[in-house]
Amino acid sequence: MPMSAHPKVGFVSLGCPKALVDSERILTQLRTDGYDVVPDYDNADLVVVNTCGFIDSAVAESMDAIGEAISENGRVIVTGCLGVKADEIKAQFPKVLAVTGPQAYEEVVGAVHTHLPTVQKHDPFLDLVPPQGIKLTPRHYAYLKISEGCNHRCSFCIIPSMRGNLVSRDIGDVMAEAERLKNAGVRELLIISQDTSAYGVDIKYRTAFWNGRPIKTRMLELCEALGELGIWVRLHYVYPYPHVDNIMPLMAEGKILPYLDIPFQHASPRILKSMKRPAASENNLTRIKAWREICPELTIRSTFIAGFPGETDEDFEHLLEFLEEAQLDRVGCFAYSPVDGAKANELENPVPEELKQERLQRFMETQAAISANRLQAKVGTRQVVLIDSVNGENAIARSSADAPEIDGVVHVSVDDYEIEAGDFIEVDVVQADEHDLYGQIVGE
Ligand code: SF4
Repeated sequence: MPMSAHPKVGFVSLGCPKALVDSERILTQLRTDGYDVVPDYDNADLVVVNTCGFIDSAVAESMDAIGEAISENGRVIVTGCLGVKADEIKAQFPKVLAVTGPQAYEEVVGAVHTHLPTVQKHDPFLDLVPPQGIKLTPRHYAYLKISEGCNHRCSFCIIPSMRGNLVSRDIGDVMAEAERLKNAGVRELLIISQDTSAYGVDIKYRTAFWNGRPIKTRMLELCEALGELGIWVRLHYVYPYPHVDNIMPLMAEGKILPYLDIPFQHASPRILKSMKRPAASENNLTRIKAWREICPELTIRSTFIAGFPGETDEDFEHLLEFLEEAQLDRVGCFAYSPVDGAKANELENPVPEELKQERLQRFMETQAAISANRLQAKVGTRQVVLIDSVNGENAIARSSADAPEIDGVVHVSVDDYEIEAGDFIEVDVVQADEHDLYGQIVGE
């Protein structure tokens, strides 16, 4: 391969927001090192595929993407979660140039340098990398990853074996990145990790510095500091530990968004124990009630699994009762499907496929009515929304209750107002359907 001043790298990013953040870091480094990033196979000198290996369908999608890149371009480096299965990848695609694992930024960038050398180092005066780095999300929101890995061992999950134990980023670094993103125009930060509540536990909540001020690497202190930035801050992957109570006042005061993404996964204590879930012994209903007393605006999003091995009719009824009591706003549910290498595969009494699907159906029906009622209750309220896009007379926006890509949206009629993506505006909610709200801009 001839050396070129600005070799061109194609990039395919698969998987969850955490993988997206990894892709952004790799791309930022490649640009800093003098590579051009191109959007198609034809013009790329080499293609990096950032894979996902979370569930079997993600593995299949990743394998397909590798196959496509090989046949379209031929020179492929594989990275990301599926990278832990290097042998399988190389067996299926012997032409792959290199395989690196999750969070191995230096390794994948090193592999690009090996297989596609660049003669010219990055010149900061000529090749500007934007101060916020390369972002794959729209300009006005960004994912901010605060830690890697996870100390839990949920029986259905193989993330710890792919990504390792919890490694928290220094809070000074996290805040510096948050400020950089804000200064580059980001209006909403989405805080992600595998376990946001555990932030700092691995480094004993070490004190670091932000703007010369000592600050502990811990969830509460992080939320307080982020709350000072004056932009939206949304928390994902929070587990319902008692210390989460401490951030409710920040939400009630409007410092961070009144929104919690808590993957409960089930409600039956027996199943939670067999899933080995974090905070499995907490009384979640009592906790949710207490949170809503402090912050009535709180939106709770969650995910659940129906038909986990050993789930009895009684366990499932318990789950439905929990839904009725908890009145969660946004909920996703999956029928349990075994993940290659997960401990749960050894559990007894698997639920027959038909019963799993039947339970999933009942779950979704129960929750759909709850979610629709909760949306309906917002008709007549006034909400601040963040504009995501404007298309002629219609704009798509989100309120504090809507995370991008996973929740609903607020449809806004633009009328004669001049608005653009990234604007915060006030709307009166005039209508609701099953998933979304419809709003009218509040005049002067
Ligand atoms: S908390 Fe459980 S499900 Fe989440 S990453 Fe850790 S082990 Fe997996």
